[in-house]
Formats: sequence, structure tokens, C-alpha cells
Amino acid sequence: MVERQIEARGIHNPRVLSAMREIPRHLFIPPPYDQSAYDDNPLPIGNGQTISQPYIVALMTDLLRPEPSDNVLEIGAGSGYQAAILSRLVRRLTTMERISAVAILARNNVTSLGIQNVEVVEGDGTQGYPQNAPYDGIIVTAATPEIPQTLTDQLADGGRLVAPVGGRDIQELVTLEKQGDIMIPECHGGVRFVPLIGKHGWEN
Ligand code: SAH
Repeated sequence: MVERQIEARGIHNPRVLSAMREIPRHLFIPPPYDQSAYDDNPLPIGNGQTISQPYIVALMTDLLRPEPSDNVLEIGAGSGYQAAILSRLVRRLTTMERISAVAILARNNVTSLGIQNVEVVEGDGTQGYPQNAPYDGIIVTAATPEIPQTLTDQLADGGRLVAPVGGRDIQELVTLEKQGDIMIPECHGGVRFVPLIGKHGWEN
């Protein structure tokens, strides 16, 4: 999976590649789709939600430029795969999930791998999680019409945010880097995510 889907598409950050090699993706996918865990696509995890395509997880992780001392926030835990990858790359990760059953799934999955630096919080991630802010990185793994200011407010100076921004069906992968009062945007191509539903996202 890592060689064919990720390295072949130009991701060479050795820390990202080794985290992707270490975390078994099939543990994050309920049957029967776990059989297809190493395929090149997203898969259903129940409750109408999905686990992201491996390449997209690698790309977003790489764009976040995670450092070992970083405190990071993820919005949209899903079954916890992206969170497990990031747990190998940063000091502390808070991941938010709005659907209770999915939050429980994520919590069980990270716990069963013995991961101790991830906190799964049930709630509306469009409001962020000020209790653990400021964050060196914020990764939004659901599609948002625009990046909520609540989130950029919780970003540390020099921090980076990665998010799929656009319509309900198709979005552009965007990064923002906070430099004092300025946010520096960059675009990284088209993606498809399930909608971010909440106060500062889609209505439903
Ligand atoms: N990061 C996941 C992919 C998650 S799919 C992975 O590693 O595979 C997107 C998730 O975002 C879904 O589980 C959905 O329920 C959740 N979500 C949508 N809106 C949300 C919100 N406002 N706050 C928190 N989670 C949200």
C-alpha cells in the first residue's frame, strides 16, 4: 500500500511513510469491508461515514508538517485511523467526532493499539476544542463550505491547518499557515469528503 499508493504519488517524508507502515488499516474498518483495507479508496465504517483513502491520509499528514513536540487537533475522528497515524508523529492529539457511536469506535480502536497520546472528544468540531488550545496543527477531515474562524483562532502562531474546502460533493484541499495576524493559503488539488455538519459547517 505505502509503496504503490503513497510513495509512487510523490510522498517521501520518512516519518509519514513509517507511521503509515506501522498502523494496520484493517483494524479501523468493520467487516465485510476490512477485506479491502489496503485498496486505493475510501471505505464505509457505518453510520453513513467513511475511512479516508490511504493516499489522502498520507497527503494531509504530510501537508500538516507534524513535529514530535506538536499539539494537534483533528476534526472528524471517524474510526480513528488518521488519529492513530498522527499519534506516532506528534506529542498530543485531540480528535473530535459528532456521532456518538463513531466516537466510541474511534476510542476503542486507538485504545486497543495501546495509543496513549490521543484524546477522542464527542462534540461539534466546527467549534474546535479551546480546552486543549493553542494547536500547532489542525486537520479537518470532513468537507467544509469555509474554514471556521473559531478554528483559526485556536491555532498557535506559525501553526498550520489542513482542510477540504468547497461544495458538499467536491472540495479543494487547502492549507493555511498562521503568521501573526495573517493566514497564508495554499491549494493542493481536488478531493471528496463527507460533509462537516455543525454550527460553522453544513446544516445537515
Ligand atoms: N479522519 C477519518 C475520516 C473521517 S470521515 C479517518 O481517519 O478515516 C469524517 C468524520 O467527520 C465522520 O465520522 C463524521 O461523523 C465526522 N464529522 C462531521 N461533522 C463533524 C463535526 N462538526 N464535528 C466532529 N466530527 C464531525
